[in-house]
Amino acid sequence: MAFHINGRRLASEIEQHLAAVIQRHQNRAGRPPGLAVLRIGDDPASGVYVSNKEKACERIGISRHGAHISKDITLEEMLHVIHSMNEDPLIDAILLQLPLPPSLDPGILLEAISPEKDADGLHTLNLGRLLKGEPGPRSCTPSGIMVLLANNKIPLEGQHAVVIGRSTLVGKPMALMLQSANATVTMAHSHTIDLSSITRRADILVVAAGSPQLIGARHVKPNAVVIDVGIHRVPIDEITENGSKSYLCGDVNSNELEEIASALTPVPGGVGPMTVAMLLTNTVMNWGNRCTLDNPLEDLVSF
Ligand code: NAD
Repeated sequence: MAFHINGRRLASEIEQHLAAVIQRHQNRAGRPPGLAVLRIGDDPASGVYVSNKEKACERIGISRHGAHISKDITLEEMLHVIHSMNEDPLIDAILLQLPLPPSLDPGILLEAISPEKDADGLHTLNLGRLLKGEPGPRSCTPSGIMVLLANNKIPLEGQHAVVIGRSTLVGKPMALMLQSANATVTMAHSHTIDLSSITRRADILVVAAGSPQLIGARHVKPNAVVIDVGIHRVPIDEITENGSKSYLCGDVNSNELEEIASALTPVPGGVGPMTVAMLLTNTVMNWGNRCTLDNPLEDLVSF
């Protein structure tokens, strides 16, 4: 049976650590850390993600400055919102919840966020810092995966890691982080020919394709570690015992991998909670930098 890597438990431990850090430094800082989550439009999945992030802030003592904005907002109006948050002394981190309505260019808006208040490491300057191995806020999902791998003592040095997906949000920063940890990295994407011949060579397989249950037994070599980033709500014809008309699954068919993989992340409860934990970590780290606290998170920032 594959070992199930428990992201929910580790995320909860990180939350407790961050809450203690906030308590310890709040007097000197003169205020708690502040996070603004900007939700534009009514995408239902985004609503759930934003609510999870806001609840996590409440649990650990981060103040919330978010806004739920109409999908009809213009680019100019949205830039004005971001600029005023950049100037707000109580806000340490700004997260633009993606996807945006088609009328808004995410590239322009992400660049408008001050790099020092970037909650998701997506500003060009912070992506450059990642490329050069310099400190800075990192994209939350891949950094959460790095912490999950380290915490579960999964060796990376010299291992062959295959990353499926090349988005700026997940796949590309993931590949860079794994390389920095001395793994040998191969990237696969939607134009890759004969995907399974590549994934079968992976010691560590990170799947961020956004395609439900794309990866099954034929893609995975025995004893590989499989990290499932995908999250999909799939409708079902019959209502289940608990009254649900849908279920959650990832990019991996986990049932098929139980007897093949050495370890895998469940969906839900694997990568998702770690993404939120890293958002909180980035916020507290920005707060520490902005309030000139000495390295409040020294022991957490290692990727
Ligand atoms: P994206 O759509 O921006 O990128 C998907 C990538 O996968 C692309 O590079 C594409 O080339 C590749 N791809 C698509 N189909 C493929 C195939 N059949 N074979 C090989 N490569 C293929 O998506 P994203 O933002 O990187 O997110 C990926 C998935 O992860 C989505 O399901 C998303 O919901 C999920 N996600 C989860 C979390 C979390 O916290 N759990 C965070 C971010 C994204």
